Amino acid sequence: MADCIFCRIAQGEIPSAKVYEDDTVLAFRDLDPQAPEHVLVIPKKHIGSVLAFTDADKELAGHILTEVVPAVARSCGIDAGGFRLVTNTGADGGQTVGHLHFHLLGGRLLTWPPG
Ligand code: 5GP
Ligand code: ZN
Repeated sequence: MADCIFCRIAQGEIPSAKVYEDDTVLAFRDLDPQAPEHVLVIPKKHIGSVLAFTDADKELAGHILTEVVPAVARSCGIDAGGFRLVTNTGADGGQTVGHLHFHLLGGRLLTWPPG
């Protein structure tokens, strides 16, 4: 989508600090980090949120959760200490960018419940 900031990051039109990339997925550092390690994991193709997943995305969703997230957690050095994986969805969920993204947060003790 032309007016989607994360589509533009995925296509390299807007620079980002990449930590992982393959044909279908990109991970890059959040512009406004909320923890010492704060990475956003996105599908390169535009998907609005988890609510917009279709059957055709099952392989992509599995790839993100079973391969990309563990690989990024290990490469950021937060696998041993632990981390939080969050996807804010919709207005009440606090979603501000309408392109599916998973926040990977770690490097400090994260409190619960979130605000
Ligand atoms: P949301 O609020 O939708 O869950 O998360 C959106 C996240 O994207 C926020 O944490 C925000 O800091 C981050 N963000 C917004 N615009 C940019 C950008 O242009 N570059 C990067 N790296 N992060 C961004
Ligand atoms: Zn998009």
